[in-house]
Amino acid sequence: MVTTLPAATGFLAVASPDSGVALRPAFAAQGSRTVVRESNGRQHLYAVLLHAGAVPDGSVARRGGTAVLLAGELYNQPDLCSLLPDGAAADSDVHLVLALLDRYGVSAFRLLNGRFAVVAMLGNRVLLATDHAGSVPLYVTARPGQVAAATEAKSLAGTAGVGVPPGARSLAALPGARSLAALPGVCQLRAGMVLEIDVAKGATDVHRTWRPPLERRILPEGEATDLVRDTLRHAVRARTGTDTPLVVISGGIDSSSVAALTVEAAGGATIDTLAMGSEHDNEFPEARTVAEHLATRHSEIIVPTADLLAQLPYAVWAAETTNVDIIEYLLPLTALYLRVGDTPRRILTGYGADIPLGGMHREGRLPALEQAVSHDMATFDGLNEMTPVLSAVGGHWSTHPFWDREVLAVLTSLEAGLKHRYGRDKWVLRTAMADLLPATTVNRPKLGVHEGSGTTAAFSALLVSAGVPPSQLREAKYLVLQALFRRVVANGEHPDAVDFAKTVDEVAGMQRRSVG
Ligand code: ATP
Ligand code: MG
Repeated sequence: MVTTLPAATGFLAVASPDSGVALRPAFAAQGSRTVVRESNGRQHLYAVLLHAGAVPDGSVARRGGTAVLLAGELYNQPDLCSLLPDGAAADSDVHLVLALLDRYGVSAFRLLNGRFAVVAMLGNRVLLATDHAGSVPLYVTARPGQVAAATEAKSLAGTAGVGVPPGARSLAALPGARSLAALPGVCQLRAGMVLEIDVAKGATDVHRTWRPPLERRILPEGEATDLVRDTLRHAVRARTGTDTPLVVISGGIDSSSVAALTVEAAGGATIDTLAMGSEHDNEFPEARTVAEHLATRHSEIIVPTADLLAQLPYAVWAAETTNVDIIEYLLPLTALYLRVGDTPRRILTGYGADIPLGGMHREGRLPALEQAVSHDMATFDGLNEMTPVLSAVGGHWSTHPFWDREVLAVLTSLEAGLKHRYGRDKWVLRTAMADLLPATTVNRPKLGVHEGSGTTAAFSALLVSAGVPPSQLREAKYLVLQALFRRVVANGEHPDAVDFAKTVDEVAGMQRRSVG
């Protein structure tokens, strides 16, 4: 059973044979910070752990020449414990990882179903690992003699962090990791990957630990819907915890499914639900229908559109990307998480069901649906849509049951005719949940959060009113995000220090001059 927040939610860690490495962490995620120093005779591991509780006991484990740090949590502990020689329950997720490393070596990471980033020091090597979805971003800078890894890129950026010092030779090839154009020398690990680095020599090895399934399963309708419901139920249960969970709901089928199964998992205790909208647009009636049906303690938050846009610097700060579509999608969620309250909460969402089920694909032809699913499953990596930092800027921990490793494998691998059937999108999910939700919710067409909250239109309107020619809108949005990224990620400034209106005016001025 998981507790309210994971033992640690982020870290900056540096491994080096040299002692006395200075750490200058920069985190958008809120929390307490604890410095950890480990040494095994061959190298040192210095880290700053970010955590919600008092002392992050369950986030560091050590034995012999090995030390492991884990940010995040695991969802298949009972299965993992059954693999240990004495069948013993490990004290915490990080101790479980240490025991499995002992028994399985690097391939231990192929066993884990979780939402985590790990750094481990073994002898003269360092292991950096992401979960199957790369749902906790993990960044790295490396040169012979020093490896630095962090759950936020800003901790590795030039002035703020421990980035590669001028003149030092960075490891040109960190195979399998993605270079960040906006932060030279910093790479992001891919999803489902372990990077193994010999710190002194700089030699690297890459191990893949997960790939999206390419095969498709043929199942009778009833078996498919049972499988989807049972797998999702298990994923929700593993994420529900002992304290009152909070589910952020739009009233759409995805988040409503998670809310229904969270009510079940809470076993009679009342759960909280929360819906957000703007003054122009909201899905409040639809969310209320679900909340009433499930008898949750429900709240609504209205975020005025102007306030929403003013939080763009926060969205870039948290998600560390300049991708316009991603930031427009994440902006309302950032605003929502900033308003959840001061007490750290465990938040469940309905994020991600559309990707394996082809829910964004609005016509029913199966070849095109298959193509959309395969494309999206092959390209999700590195977008940072799932980053826990988004909710951590408000001090909370978010988790997405639809991207549980087992749920994702089941949903992706169902043959397309189970996804679109009888003229309905996401048929298998809607049918699986039909007994637990109101019929209107089960039959409701999809509406994305950026559509429901009007973010895309509002950002465009702001730029047009600043004088950006409509033909230049997309470019202008990108330039605004780039300017924000430079400030809050590369330079490590706080978003409140950024004059957003001035940034927009500067970009609009540049655009007018380039067109004029
Ligand atoms: P749903 O079917 O639940 O609407 P979706 O695929 O449309 O899902 P997204 O727009 O991708 O969802 O948003 C991801 C998640 O963020 C949702 O599943 C939900 O948990 C949360 N969310 C989206 N919109 C709102 C909102 N207006 N209020 C509260 N939470 C929301
Ligand atoms: Mg929706």
